[in-house]
This record gives sequence, C-alpha cells and structure tokens, in this order.
Amino acid sequence: MKKRVTLTFPKRTVHMPVTYRLAKDFNVAANIIRAQVAPNQIGTLVIELSGDIDELDAALEWMRSLDINVSLIGREILIDEECCVDCGLCTGVCPTQALTLDPQTFKLNFIRSRCIVCEQCIPTCPVQAISTNL
Ligand code: SF4
Ligand code: SF4
Repeated sequence: MKKRVTLTFPKRTVHMPVTYRLAKDFNVAANIIRAQVAPNQIGTLVIELSGDIDELDAALEWMRSLDINVSLIGREILIDEECCVDCGLCTGVCPTQALTLDPQTFKLNFIRSRCIVCEQCIPTCPVQAISTNL
C-alpha cells in the first residue's frame, strides 16, 4: 500500500539518511515529492511511502520515536478569521512561509498550497485561532 506523509525533522535529525533506513530496515520505498530545510534548520519532507502495511506502520512508529513529526496528508490547517487578532506570532514559526502578515494591511495571510501541515503554528496562537480538520 501507499501513504503520502509530511515529515518534519527536528534540528538534530535533519541530516539523518531516513529514506535509506526506511528501505534497508523496513523494506519501505520512499518517493520524495518535496524537500525543504528552513533557515532555522527545521527540515520538512513530503514523501510517498510504499510497502507492506505492517512495515509501513513500523516505519512510521520508528520515525515518531526519533521525534520526527509525521503528518498524514488529508489533514489541513484551519484558521478562524473571526478569532484571529493578526498578531503575527504564527508567522515566526512557519517553515514554509504559508503564514505571513500582509505588509500593507498587517492582516494574516494564509497560502494553503504552501502549508505542509507541520502544525508548528497551532501552539503559538494566543487565541487558539488555528486548528486542524481531523
Ligand atoms: S502547519 Fe502552520 S506552521 Fe506548518 S506549514 Fe502549515 S501554516 Fe506553516
Ligand atoms: S498567532 Fe493566531 S492570532 Fe496571531 S496571527 Fe496567527 S492565527 Fe492570528
């Protein structure tokens, strides 16, 4: 079976050869769709994993044990515009600049196509305006 996931690597694992280990230790093939390392050295990878379901689950568990954040695609970020006070705190942690403040209006701008659902923005919001659909 296949699973498309977004991986967010903490600084200490950003250079780990994860796709090699997935193939060698779990017999799981990883097709990299998008890779990015942010200036703060947090890395994100969108990959499609293929393999036996049990080995896929074991591989996901192994990555989580390394503190790699694993998000299954399908999950989406929701911003409650009524609640948002445009403080901009969430923009500081967004590794892909999906969240920015408009320089003219100072309003929060969310570009969904850039969002990799790493969920780092959720705990930064002081008014809980950010959540996920699942
Ligand atoms: S989940 Fe939040 S921090 Fe992560 S990429 Fe999407 S908007 Fe940015
Ligand atoms: S942290 Fe919350 S209130 Fe501040 S801009 Fe982001 S969504 Fe809006």
